[in-house]
Amino acid sequence: MNDRLIISVATTGSWPTKAQNPHLPTTEDEIAAAAVACGNAGAAIVHIHVRDDAGRVCCDPVRYARVRSAVEAGGSDVIVNMSTGGGAGLVTDAQRMEPVTLSPEIASFDCGSLNFGDGVFINSPAFLTELATTMRAFGVLPEIECFEPGHVWNALRMIDDGSLQPPHWFQFVLGVRGGSPATVKQLLNMVDMLPPGALWSVCAIGRAQLPINLAAMALGGHIRTGLEDNLYYRKGELASNEQLVARLVRIAAEIGRPVATPAETREMLGLNQRGSEESHRKVGSA
Ligand code: ZN
Repeated sequence: MNDRLIISVATTGSWPTKAQNPHLPTTEDEIAAAAVACGNAGAAIVHIHVRDDAGRVCCDPVRYARVRSAVEAGGSDVIVNMSTGGGAGLVTDAQRMEPVTLSPEIASFDCGSLNFGDGVFINSPAFLTELATTMRAFGVLPEIECFEPGHVWNALRMIDDGSLQPPHWFQFVLGVRGGSPATVKQLLNMVDMLPPGALWSVCAIGRAQLPINLAAMALGGHIRTGLEDNLYYRKGELASNEQLVARLVRIAAEIGRPVATPAETREMLGLNQRGSEESHRKVGSA
């Protein structure tokens, strides 16, 4: 299974709008439909954010639960990864933690603070410790998001002190204004810092998305695409989430990286050993 490629798709994010790209899913039904379509196209993991009725990012667990239920009702076994990012400063730390109580299979874990575009994305040591504790309590695999090498270093300390338990699943996010530039050299630097046995994926912002995905495929890593990170299929042509996934699946086939199914991804990430099915269903249907 070593050469299997895990494709994640980040369908919505905190900031993009339908005015920028009409394919952007923003309601729960649209997000779930995009998740199902992307799963059918070859994505194993769907990273989701939810929006309120005004289209603003929120962390409402009821909305998150609705998306997950609709994905399941759509007959898809794609893995749902819930964001705890909260739009980099738009919601409180307590609100960011709420989706974790739904016991999603994976949730994002932003492993450090940084300037983020025109704002500041604060992930204090106290918040990260509490988030890691809460994720362990609810059987959630943290997707350790690192926007620059200092965040990898934070993760190494939390791995050492036992806050982050294996398997370790990293997502490098390159090209955010305030984080690491999206270059292969920066990617390699961060990959080199990882502990043995860690699995990693990378996403990059805007036009860096595809070339950095290709570099990761060549390096044996995993990849994330989607409209959260990039709105275009190519210069001047808007993309849909499904199109972006389908292109990566075609390229993977050409270079001999078989695409991991959700079931294979669960095995690679040890997701079957986490949480109890019963608590998952109880909270999810509430
Ligand atoms: Zn996100």
